[in-house]
Amino acid sequence: MAKIIDGVAVAREMRRGLKARVASLRERGVVPGLAVIIVGDNPASRLYVRNKIRACDEVGIKSFRFDFPQAAAPDEVLALIEALNRRSDVHGILVQLPLPPQFAIGEVLRAISPDKDVDGFHLYNVGGLVVGDTVFPPCTPYGVVKLLEHEGIPLEGRNVVVVGASNIVGKPMALMLMQKDATVCICHAKTRDLAQFTILADILVVAAGQPNLIVPQMVKTGAVVIDVGINRLPDGRLVGDADFKGLLPKVSHITPVPGGVGPMTVTMLLANTIGSAERSGGQARVLTSAQEELS
Ligand code: NAD
Repeated sequence: MAKIIDGVAVAREMRRGLKARVASLRERGVVPGLAVIIVGDNPASRLYVRNKIRACDEVGIKSFRFDFPQAAAPDEVLALIEALNRRSDVHGILVQLPLPPQFAIGEVLRAISPDKDVDGFHLYNVGGLVVGDTVFPPCTPYGVVKLLEHEGIPLEGRNVVVVGASNIVGKPMALMLMQKDATVCICHAKTRDLAQFTILADILVVAAGQPNLIVPQMVKTGAVVIDVGINRLPDGRLVGDADFKGLLPKVSHITPVPGGVGPMTVTMLLANTIGSAERSGGQARVLTSAQEELS
């Protein structure tokens, strides 16, 4: 039977370490600050924002929440981002996605100062990821790397298949694993015969948003399966992209949904915010880049 990777426990352990880093920053008079901007009333976005703010409270990060109505003018939000870029008590700025249709998402993300871009979506940080000098690794794939590290799963020279090629999960995931010297293959909705790729994976990361996409016959015996997908079924159940029960007897490790990758995402947002505060606060343990932590 596979080992079930307990993302809740790993996140809890990491948050203890983060709390200690915040305490040491506070001793030096630096209170890490995260600004969260939300536009509109998408219930899922509101829930995510609430969870992020609660997590900040838990480790001692000061959060600043800014709510805009669905019909907000993009200029108002851009002006706020400009002001937050200049504030010394704000070390991270996050704009909850998706945004209403009147917004050009790229323009909003590029308005965030690259040294406060804790989601890692600014072009500067995406470029950093490509050349292997990341300042802010995007939170979900960063969480996956930390889970793999925690489980002692080697990456060098292993075959990794990433299913999903979004800018938020799949692409940065592939780049981070390539940086770790894995041999990486990226599949997406237009990939023909997905199984011929997935069957080769020593480590399979799935982030497609398709329940039951990965079934046992598509996976090699003893593979590691990291399920990033979150899908709500008509009966209300929350499931990932992989057939969890079917895969259990075949694979070596698997993440459950919920309780796998999800809790790590918010934890890495906290880590990115604290890293930013450390860089700004002249603390002894200054990281030149988050890549040092990743390696
Ligand atoms: P997205 O819709 O932007 O991208 C999905 C990707 O999967 C695309 O590249 C698409 O081509 C690919 N895809 C879709 N169907 C496919 C198929 N049948 N075969 C192969 N590839 C297919 O989604 P996203 O934002 O990248 O999120 C992916 C999933 O991960 C969603 O379920 C989302 O809810 C979840 N997610 C979880 C977390 C977390 O913290 N656990 C964070 C972000 C996203």
